[in-house]
Amino acid sequence: MKRRKFIQNTSLGSLGVVAGATTLGCKGDSEKKEIATTTPTESDSKRIPVVIGTWNVPDPVTKAWEVIQEGKSALDAIEAGCRVEEANEEGQSVGIGGLPDRDGHVTLDACIMNSEGDYGAVVYLKDIKHPISVARKVMEETPHVLMAGEGARQFALEQGFKSENLLTENSRKAWEEWKKTSKYEPIINIENHDTIGMLAIDKDGNISGGCTTSGLAYKMAGRVGDSPIIGSGLFVDNEIGAATATGLGEEVLKTVGSFLIVELMRQGMSPQAACEEAIQRIVKKNPNHENFQVGYIAVNKKGETGAYSIHEGFYATVYQDDKINAYPPDYYLKDK
Ligand code: ASP
Repeated sequence: MKRRKFIQNTSLGSLGVVAGATTLGCKGDSEKKEIATTTPTESDSKRIPVVIGTWNVPDPVTKAWEVIQEGKSALDAIEAGCRVEEANEEGQSVGIGGLPDRDGHVTLDACIMNSEGDYGAVVYLKDIKHPISVARKVMEETPHVLMAGEGARQFALEQGFKSENLLTENSRKAWEEWKKTSKYEPIINIENHDTIGMLAIDKDGNISGGCTTSGLAYKMAGRVGDSPIIGSGLFVDNEIGAATATGLGEEVLKTVGSFLIVELMRQGMSPQAACEEAIQRIVKKNPNHENFQVGYIAVNKKGETGAYSIHEGFYATVYQDDKINAYPPDYYLKDK
């Protein structure tokens, strides 16, 4: 089931914060699981370990949680969690099945950052469905941090990744349909704004993060957004916390959003307050903010989480204290 539809079907897409629990599932009716839908409070206990992901993504977040429960690192958890969505052919914004650029090419961006402050990223990667793993290889196997295009693809092939066609029939049809008007405008909260950003703290208290996307649907060939760019789509500082972004990448890039959030937390803000301030920076500078979405999630060293967006419709999925919770965070336009 597509994630956006999945959200609508749960009737959670309505106003503001919903408290309670609901039965949600991505894998089909046979595997439904109980997921809370409650905004985390200050009094939540046992905060570490924790996994938080952008959007309503129970399967990737659950996978990451399971890896942490096995005693593995937050970095392993992030890679494993992101790979779940990259392999999901129905998701049209990450990995295989991602919507193409305006010329019909699926190009993927991803980055990963560990608790040592190491970082690896790939941009404009074609034919390889797991850019998060290629990003990790860039971090661990090369003297570089960011590789692009054909060089990144060649590197991935040398590392043993398989070359495959990433344009699924559904995404090809959607692109053919789009070509009839060829109108490029960011659309709020639909499949083309569904980057997976994920942050995790493992049992040792170490923090890592990852971000993986096919970028904006029908982007200009060569366009790269915020998701693979350190400080914009993702930033981790093991002393302080981590943040990641989704939505219109151009706006996140211009405000270096994830780095900003981590620095605000360093100055004493809670993850929630820091996410809100980062959204304010975008909104203040851009009167057009009613026409695009940006969402942030963050976690601090204690395992407290925060999430905030411009528009209604954003979700954060948190696994903490042995419970998974997919909730609609507060948003800037709520009281406007
Ligand atoms: N942030 C991504 C980008 O601009 C898009 C998204 O979140 O869906 O490429």
